[in-house]
Amino acid sequence: MKGVGPKRAELLQKLGVYTLEDLLYHLPRRYEDRTRFVTIAQAVPGEPVTLKGRVALVDVTSARSGMALVKARLDDDTGSLELVWFNQRWMKERLQNKPHEFVFFGIPQESGWGLTMSNPEWEPLEPNADPLGVGRIVPIYPLTEGISQKVIRQILHRSVVEYAGRIDELLPAELRRKYDLGGIEKCLMQAHFPDKMEYVEIARRRLVFEEFLGLQLGLAVSRAEVSLEPGIAFEIADDLFVRFTSNLPFELTKAQQRVIRDIWHDMAQPRPMNRLIQGDVGSGKTVVAAAAIVAAVSAGYQAAMMAPTEILAGQHHANISKVLERFDIRPELLVGRLSTKQKADARERILNRHATVVVGTHALVQESLEFGRLGLAIVDEQHRFGVLQRATLAQKGVNPDVLVMTATPIPRTLTMTLYGDLDVSIIDEMPVGRKPIRTKWKREEDRQSVYDGVRELITQGHQAYLVCPLVESSEKLQSQAAVVMADKLRNDIFPDLKVGLIHGQMKAVEKDDVMERFRQGEVDILVATTVIEVGVDVPNASVMVIEDAHRFGLAQLHQLRGRVGRGDRQSYCILIADARTEDAVQRMTTMINSTDGFVIAETDLRLRGPGEVFGTKQSGIPVFRVADLVRDQQLLEEARTEAFEIVKEDRKLELPKNRLLRVLLQRSRSRISVANVG
Ligand code: ADP
Ligand code: MG
Repeated sequence: MKGVGPKRAELLQKLGVYTLEDLLYHLPRRYEDRTRFVTIAQAVPGEPVTLKGRVALVDVTSARSGMALVKARLDDDTGSLELVWFNQRWMKERLQNKPHEFVFFGIPQESGWGLTMSNPEWEPLEPNADPLGVGRIVPIYPLTEGISQKVIRQILHRSVVEYAGRIDELLPAELRRKYDLGGIEKCLMQAHFPDKMEYVEIARRRLVFEEFLGLQLGLAVSRAEVSLEPGIAFEIADDLFVRFTSNLPFELTKAQQRVIRDIWHDMAQPRPMNRLIQGDVGSGKTVVAAAAIVAAVSAGYQAAMMAPTEILAGQHHANISKVLERFDIRPELLVGRLSTKQKADARERILNRHATVVVGTHALVQESLEFGRLGLAIVDEQHRFGVLQRATLAQKGVNPDVLVMTATPIPRTLTMTLYGDLDVSIIDEMPVGRKPIRTKWKREEDRQSVYDGVRELITQGHQAYLVCPLVESSEKLQSQAAVVMADKLRNDIFPDLKVGLIHGQMKAVEKDDVMERFRQGEVDILVATTVIEVGVDVPNASVMVIEDAHRFGLAQLHQLRGRVGRGDRQSYCILIADARTEDAVQRMTTMINSTDGFVIAETDLRLRGPGEVFGTKQSGIPVFRVADLVRDQQLLEEARTEAFEIVKEDRKLELPKNRLLRVLLQRSRSRISVANVG
């Protein structure tokens, strides 16, 4: 492109711009309304203005720091104002002795001698100049060093004028009418150089919709493909539900019942189930998994359930064993700490189908493990695993049904992009009798009273968790801190109570041992690192103290807090936090004010953005060019509904009227997969 040589091309690459199309989608980060000129007399200190006038008296001096100061005087018919540039010696050359006027945009400040404007943006008002920076709404672009607003504006203006018309229109006219979206050329033009401020949103809306639609079409099509594959139609007896519930120690919530029905319905279909169960911590997902397992095993298949930690696998194994006892099912536990012999024996039983149910960790996806007849694969705490591990487990059977469970209350918009090819069931109800956890924010100086409170509750028969500070990026250091903390509590604070310790550097058997003693009530206070973050279930534990809570993210705090409030007694979460940043204060107040995982997740998303919350690369969140998952939720919903409707009618987008959409889908796929690889 004219105006972009090898040097500039390199700079543009730093901005992620490799092609003309990339360039056209390099949108401004904001706009400034410079449509109206103001006279110098009208300029008000502190308010951005566009001024026009002649430049007189250009001078270069040195500041004490050695920095070059270019000073100039701007005159118009109403007065004059001082212009200052730091370290831009060349400005003198640009401004001095020019026959024409200039335009300056900046914020005037009162300086004692009158008004001054520092580092203003400027344009010469030459008779034939194209004044992109004045007299209009001016785009302000994301920059990289070596390229100025002015230069990039020129490059973009040229590219929009010359090439926006060559970008393919991929939204069919009918769709554009339906959603009131403009044509691509006009929208690109207005997104860069809007004629009116209102046009920015209108243009952006179309670009976002197109981006979301491409993504959602991809998800809809791949889901339609899966549903064509033959799966297992499990036979589920009419009385299974009654038999399953009759020996549970509690009544299932309405939400649990509904989700079990969703799952069983899927399982009965001759297509592979692909369902995500979303339920806040403590909503009772495990028993729902057990229901799925019972159905699979009763129909003559094997079931596998994978959990992210050994503690959790052990706990699930124990709980599910209890529920399945009367069905005469004895689940196998497959975890790393078993001896080679034990593992080999377990593998043998799984292969020859003596074992019908296996609960385990990553050990389940090892190559050496083969199933005789795997019909159901369950992944608990899905966010702890990669997409690949989920697939590997499923491949141990022939198109088995797949159930993934997550306690991470992912906001709807993210669910729609991350798990957009799954069906989703939500357990949106807590077991009855649960009292909302009371959360308090305490400072360092309240520590003694916090300890007194903990002691008081333990005297009443409760148990407590004490979570140690997060040590960034080092589990080892965190574990060391936990050891020190446990010693201090044992020796100085609670010498009369039983203090246990669990951290990531302990051996699996040691962890199991202390968890078991905690579960049995032999330990009063469990000092823990974040290893207890996921899934651990000890209903009698009703107090959690989190040290240095301001260091934790919201999602993590919520997960941790979910370890209490699992019984019918009032539970407490005490955040000891020295929150100094506004962000930290917001996190603490959010925790105090809400126990709803979805509310907390939305706040987290707003505070940190999706990339930070989920880590863009490993999570598979696509990198959008224009769209913003937080801001554009509504549009995402619309695009998704539309995409799924289109695909419902035309699975592979083969109809002539969907020709453009097929191209959109292909481009979207290649763009997003490229982004994920990079
Ligand atoms: P999560 O959804 O966090 O995995 P769990 O499955 O661990 O939750 O269940 C949390 C606790 O609630 C467990 O002790 C479980 O036995 C109990 N529970 C599950 N469902 C119910 C229910 N309907 N009524 C009462 N308690 C329940
Ligand atoms: Mg769980």
